[in-house]
Formats: sequence, structure tokens, C-alpha cells
Amino acid sequence: MLKAVSKEDDYLYQGKRKRLVEILKTKGINDSKVLEAISKIPRHLFFDASASRPALLDHAYSDKALPIGAGQTISQPYTVAFQTEMLNIQPGEKVLEIGTGCGYQTAVLLEMGAKVFSIERQKLLFDKTKLFLPYIGYTGARLVFGDGYKGLPRHAPFDKIIVTAAAPYIPNDLLEQLKTGGLMIIPLGEGEVQEMVLLKKTGPTQFDKKTLGSFRFVPLLPNKAGQ
Ligand code: SAH
Repeated sequence: MLKAVSKEDDYLYQGKRKRLVEILKTKGINDSKVLEAISKIPRHLFFDASASRPALLDHAYSDKALPIGAGQTISQPYTVAFQTEMLNIQPGEKVLEIGTGCGYQTAVLLEMGAKVFSIERQKLLFDKTKLFLPYIGYTGARLVFGDGYKGLPRHAPFDKIIVTAAAPYIPNDLLEQLKTGGLMIIPLGEGEVQEMVLLKKTGPTQFDKKTLGSFRFVPLLPNKAGQ
């Protein structure tokens, strides 16, 4: 299986990834471990480039969000890199991701040595990504079908939490499941554009909050797992 994939990941794509990494550097990303992860992960295999839409493949390494099926998108590489960099991921840390989608962000976190738990509420995407990530060699993530607003109390506390869909408010369960000293990054807002918020938990109910500029995400949808 891995052989088949590596055949598809030819020099052309590796070259395109190198250029993408250069673009991300010029946009201000400088965590070398984030850039290294992005230079390794075959992004062109993650999204919905069916035979009917081969043109999408040409955009796999442009700095754009792209469709992944079920009306969802793979985040723009800059956004993935930015959120990951802000979390200052260290090997062995327990990281909770809300919104697995196609698993690209999950793969970035795995490349960085994190213990990843990721929740997705769309059954179609969940089933697809659960098969796909191991297929291209990314084993070890705990993928959960469920509601990201609730987090994963059984596996809490987490060193870091990354929310990859736009939330109308900061879910209380996620605040509780963050370790003291831990960081959470979450795009906040209900409009087309959201504010990126970085929270540091400084005590059981104390948080430092920083806002980090405007981004665009699909919405974090309410408790309707499966639809
Ligand atoms: N991390 C993904 C981003 C996918 S887009 C990537 O790397 O590409 C955001 C994802 O959040 C979508 O797949 C969407 O279905 C999911 N989502 C939306 N609301 C959710 C919720 N309440 N719980 C879990 N996942 C949710």
C-alpha cells in the first residue's frame, strides 16, 4: 500500500512542496519542525481530486483551502502552519484536534511527534480519513466520531487543543480539558471571517487570551454528529 502511494508522490510534487514551504516562510512561518512536516506530507493525496476534477491537483500546493467532500475543506496551508506554530508543539505532547476533516492537520501533528486525538462530526469524512491516514503511513492518531464541542473527557487533560472550524464561542468543555499551562488555538466568530484566539491556561479557571488576526474557516457545527 505504502509503495503505491510513494509512487504517486513523485519528484514533481516534492518540488512543489519545497516551493510551498518557501512561500510559508515568506509569510512568516519559522518553526522548522512545522516546515519540515509540510515538506514531507503529500497534500495532493488528501483532498477530493476525483477523475472528474483533475484540475484540483494542480492547486494541491498552492496556499489555498480546497474541497474534501461533504461540503468541507482542507485548510489553507498557511492557516495549518500558523495554528500549529502558535501551539509550540513538542514531541510526546497530548494534542486534541477538533475537526479532523481529511486528516492533513492530523498528519502535521503526527509528524511533529505529538500524541494526537482528533474528533470529526461528519460520518463520511470520519470513515474516509480513518482508512486514509494509515494507508499513507500515518498510524497512531486516535480518531473519534463525535461532537467536538464536548471534547474527549476520557482522555483529558490535553497539553494543546487545536480547533480547525470557526466556533461561535469557546466551548467550556474544551477549556476544562486543557492542562494548566496548556495552550488552545481557536478561530472565533460567526461571520465569514473569524478572529484567531490563542488561550493559555494559567490556573484551573484562569486564562490569558491573545488575538492573532483574521482567518476564514468552515463553521464548527452544533451537536448533530452523523449529519
Ligand atoms: N483539520 C482539517 C480541517 C477540516 S475543516 C484539515 O486539516 O483539513 C473543519 C472540519 O470540522 C470539517 O471536517 C467539519 O466536518 C468538522 N466539524 C465541524 N463541526 C464539528 C464539530 N462540532 N465536531 C467535530 N468536527 C466538526
